[in-house]
Parts: sequence; C-alpha cells; structure tokens
Amino acid sequence: MDSFTLLERLSNLPGVSGFESPVREAIAELIEPFVDEMYTDALGNLIALRRGTSDFRLMLDAHMDEVGLMVQYIDERGFLSFSPIGGWDPRILPSHLVTLFTAEGRQIAGVLGADPPHILPPQDRARVIPLEKMFIDLGAQSRAEVEAMGVAVGDPVLIQYPFRRIGRETVAGKALDDRAGCATIIKALEALKDERLKATIVAAFVVAEERGLIGGRTAAYQIDPHMALVLEGTVAGDTPGVPPQRCPCRQGEGPAITVADQSFIAPREMVGAIQSIARREGIPCQIKAPAFGGTDAGAIHQSRSGVFTGVIAVPCRYTHSPFSTCRLSDFEHGWKLLAAFCKEAAKLDSTLNHSLPKH
Ligand SMILES: [Zn+2]
Repeated sequence: MDSFTLLERLSNLPGVSGFESPVREAIAELIEPFVDEMYTDALGNLIALRRGTSDFRLMLDAHMDEVGLMVQYIDERGFLSFSPIGGWDPRILPSHLVTLFTAEGRQIAGVLGADPPHILPPQDRARVIPLEKMFIDLGAQSRAEVEAMGVAVGDPVLIQYPFRRIGRETVAGKALDDRAGCATIIKALEALKDERLKATIVAAFVVAEERGLIGGRTAAYQIDPHMALVLEGTVAGDTPGVPPQRCPCRQGEGPAITVADQSFIAPREMVGAIQSIARREGIPCQIKAPAFGGTDAGAIHQSRSGVFTGVIAVPCRYTHSPFSTCRLSDFEHGWKLLAAFCKEAAKLDSTLNHSLPKH
C-alpha cells in the first residue's frame, strides 16, 4: 500500500485511549501477510512476530491510541460534560465538530460548545476557556433525548476530520501521533517480507500510551526483548515564532532521532548506530533536541533488567490537535531507516548491548 493511502487509512480510524479496537483490527489485517504469528494480549496490545534465524528479539513499538474526550455527565437539557483523555490544549477545543461513539457502534455528531464572547465580561474574553466550562452539544433538548440516542457516561468522543493532502507533499490528519509510527512499522515489515533476517522482529502495536505508557510497559515485559525501537510522530517546531533553541525538530530533514526527552535518555551507542546506518544508506535524519515530550521508550527501557532502546520519529506539526501534518518524504525516510536497522540489529547486539545473554 502506498504511503499516502496507508497514512490516510490509519489516521481516519477512531482509537481514543482504551478504545483502540478499530485500529487494532485494521493493523492486524494489514500486517498479516508479513508476519509469522500474532495475538492480542489482555490489555489490547497487538503483538506480531516475524521469526529470524536467531533468538535475538528486536521489539518495535508504536502506540495505536490517540487523545480524545470522554462523556462525564449528561445534564437535564441534554448538554454533555466531558473529561479529556490524554493531553489537550484547551485553547484549540471550542467550536470543533465532534463524533461520539456509542456502545452499540453508532456515531453521533456534535459541536464542542462554550459561552459566546458576546456575553462574557471583558476580562474573561482574553482568557483561555477552561475545559470544565466547555460542553458537547448533540442538538438534543433533554437528557432523555440524549439517552434515547444510546449515549452514556463513559462514551469516547473524537474531534475527527478526514485526512487530506495539503501542498505538494504534506499530509494533514488527526492522530499522526502515533499512527505515523504504526505505519512506519507496517511499511518496514512489508519491505522486509522476502529478506532473511537474523533478528526475530516482535512488533508491538500498543494501547494507552497517552494515559501513561501503559501498553508499551506491559508489552515489553512479555516480549522480554534484547533491544527495542520506538516509532513515533513527534513535535516539529519549525513554525513562525519558535526560536531555534525551542524547536525540537524540523519537517523535511528526515526522521528525528531522540537523544533525550522527559522520560528517557538514549544510549549514545544507539543514537550513533542509527545515524551511521542512515549515513550508509543515504537516508537523511536529524537529532531531536532534548528534552521535549516523552514516549513509550520511557517505560520500555526500564522493563525487567533494562532494555537497550532507541526512538525514531516522524516530525509532525500540531500534534495533540484536530489536525497534525507530516511530510511524506520524512515518513518514507523513516520506514526505510527502520528496515535497514532491522537487518543490522542482531549484528549490533554483540557490540552495543552489554548485558548477560538471555536464556
Ligand atoms: Zn505518541
């Protein structure tokens, strides 16, 4: 599947943390021809194994979940209060269209409402509206009418607009954090389909990263890998008003390699190994400035007795918003770099990973 179509398919799927099954089902179908076995664990992680000629296990991690909202209360006039799932910036929420997903599988449209500026006192007009003062309006007149639609407290809600191309080679859609990472793994598995690999690749498409690196933590424990790579969509700051020292990474300069973020300091040897593979393959890449954000690597590298871990990310502008963007060229350089790394990983192990042999 070409990069645009794959990103489009994954970006458009709903997968609020805790409600990832549509994403999981699509990924299982997409990777089925490229892996030897797969299963879904108790938390909902999809774990897929592609056997190599050795027992060396390289874990690849990407999270399926995305930030969203959850119905908290339905008032007597039919308005819904909500709580955020994952990190939202309240400045960008009001007036967006939302989709609510009922337990019976219905999708219900609504609007994210807030007090109109006309009725606010002047001192409040310049202030950010707190999330607790916003509400969801489903166009209903009463609680009974909302309940008759099948809506209940606990239902997930998404701001959801269709994926599209903007400009020549930029795409815009929701949840590129981290569907771009999921797609990176899928494209790399496809590229490696007919390769004979020494490393056994264990791809983990995990749940609830946005709620505290939950699926990545439990996936690492059960996979017990010798080495791990986390694939992400990360914050690009190459936009007006961002000084260079506050810019984590830039679009158009290839995948970003983490040296450190809020959750993790990458081993220098891992950063160097990724860079030298990129150089040899002629793939552009960049170092992501420390110490912005955090990823599943924060949990994975602490699993059991510690896992030698790295992070490769597609630079995305406007993450955790209704529309994030990425460049198709950065995405393609990312999966090519990942595929090249998978071919070398078992060889790198003996020189980089200073731990006792497993099993
Ligand atoms: Zn992420």
